[in-house]
Amino acid sequence: METVLVVGAGQSGFGVATSLRDKGFGGRVVLIGDEPGLPYQRPPLSKGYLAGTAGDAQLRLRPEDFFAEKNIELIPGRVASVDRDEAKVVLEDGSAHEYDHLVLATGSVNRVLPVPGSTLDGVFTLRTKDEADVLRAALESAENVVVVGGGFIGLEFAAHAGRPVTIVEAQDRLMARVATPEVSAYFADLHEEAGHTILLGKGVAALRGEGRVAEVELSDGSLLPADLVLVGVGVEPRTRLAEGAGLAVANGVVVDEHLRTSDPKISAVGDCANFPCVQAGTATRLESVQNAVDQARAVAAVIAGEPAPYDSLPWFWTDQLGAKLQIAGILTGAEKTVVTGDREGGKFSVLSFRDGVLAGVESVNRPPDHIAARRLFAADPAPRFETLEANGFDLKATFA
Ligand code: FAD
Repeated sequence: METVLVVGAGQSGFGVATSLRDKGFGGRVVLIGDEPGLPYQRPPLSKGYLAGTAGDAQLRLRPEDFFAEKNIELIPGRVASVDRDEAKVVLEDGSAHEYDHLVLATGSVNRVLPVPGSTLDGVFTLRTKDEADVLRAALESAENVVVVGGGFIGLEFAAHAGRPVTIVEAQDRLMARVATPEVSAYFADLHEEAGHTILLGKGVAALRGEGRVAEVELSDGSLLPADLVLVGVGVEPRTRLAEGAGLAVANGVVVDEHLRTSDPKISAVGDCANFPCVQAGTATRLESVQNAVDQARAVAAVIAGEPAPYDSLPWFWTDQLGAKLQIAGILTGAEKTVVTGDREGGKFSVLSFRDGVLAGVESVNRPPDHIAARRLFAADPAPRFETLEANGFDLKATFA
């Protein structure tokens, strides 16, 4: 019987296993994961789970009996190496498991702040449930909280921490890598209104303290008191297994349009995969639930004998201080933006155009715009600036 072995029981690994069964795949499906417990989703960790409004049940992707029902074998443990000649993986405990097809769904790890003091007690990152549990407990007694990095994770943490924090960001605006200046400015206002202090254009030179963090030293020499520091400065793809197996790796495991690595018996999906992104027009690595879920489905289709080039539209969301930001498409390289809706009332969208064509839409508390944008992007070709202008930049009217 054919065996599909999936390394990594996170969002995309779980997705591959369930999608294979949805497609009627009748062989063995084996999911190997190195985190304790059942597969879970990460988004609540920096939102409701941190705030205490969501519990374990909201994290879990499926209850235990689901895996038995679907005949998905869950094996706890960390894969130490891939032996391509023998088509097997070897776990750290020495056990070996053979595969007919292997899927790498190993995700990413948080980047470490490359400054002295980054391993002091009281310095945290947030990616796993275990980290969220420790962080939640530490928050209860913390007095001076500093967030290093004004990206999604740092800002969601700030929004759900339940107290004023100081946010230190090296760029000149928040979420600079993924949002337009209009959206960055809106969220900066929200966080300041909530009592947070935002320091832009400031690097961190060191974290200071005796065993435990007491101060954050900024690049200009100034010192911030801190007994809890959350570092959210991005992630690195987990590629060690792929590198050890001699697969092509460049900012992630390199895959083709069918998400196959340089070995056709091995695929890679989710945060760890660098794939040819149709919308970006270049090789891209994305860190989102949409990307993990859609790539999982696409790989399952390839394995089940229904291959189609992967071309799903990238989309993303974040929840902060009562504002839901949804992003559809790819914003990089845009030459023009248009703001529609009610910015002051906190319900607006920013339309980004690249080469005169709609390339990305950020919607703040405007879910209908987000849905309309996804439909517009699904239409071939996406609308031009002039078409939207003629409709008063009304996405729904343009789609209708
Ligand atoms: P993961 O879900 O990270 O799973 C990878 C798994 O592989 C991990 O369990 C890892 O331990 C395991 N693994 C790695 N190597 C091995 C090995 N050698 N052997 C065995 N197991 C191994 N995205 C959104 O779209 N919206 C959000 O609001 C959002 N919020 C987020 C909040 C937080 C706090 C975090 C951390 C992420 C958030 N994301 C969000 C991103 C999203 O969760 C990730 O993009 C998604 O989880 C990626 O799925 P993945 O399967 O590639 O990786």
